Amino acid sequence: MGASWIHHSPRIRINRSALAAIFDHVGAPFERIGLLIGWLHGNTLWITDAIRGDSGDWRHCSILPPEFLARVAEGIISGNIQGRIIGWYHSHVGQGVFMSDVDLQTHLRLAQFSPYVVSMVIDSKTLEYSLFSLLPDGSLMEIRPESIDIV
Ligand SMILES: [Zn+2]
Repeated sequence: MGASWIHHSPRIRINRSALAAIFDHVGAPFERIGLLIGWLHGNTLWITDAIRGDSGDWRHCSILPPEFLARVAEGIISGNIQGRIIGWYHSHVGQGVFMSDVDLQTHLRLAQFSPYVVSMVIDSKTLEYSLFSLLPDGSLMEIRPESIDIV
């Protein structure tokens, strides 16, 4: 469960191709959002893919629309998407890397899908990024850079 994952110094592994796809997506002067797909292997959360959330009429929006979540969940069930929803990413345009109250609400919504979701925040101007997870007491924890491997 999530509590044990977060208690045993979680590690994140990100596929280079997934990271490249995320940075390609957030290279825009407005906020972008998408889902992180992958697996939990022991204590390592492996991010293998990223799905852009900017189809349709809401591409300037920074919250996850339910229909997008439903479409991805359907893709996972049908086998078109390999992996599970293990988090989400979004960009801030020059405001720095942090979790806003709205971001925390989005994180909590995704936590209904999986007990070990992470939030990835990228500043699209500085290209600085961080990953956040939720501690059992409900507070946010920034995952240390030395716990993140890019493979
Ligand atoms: Zn944000």
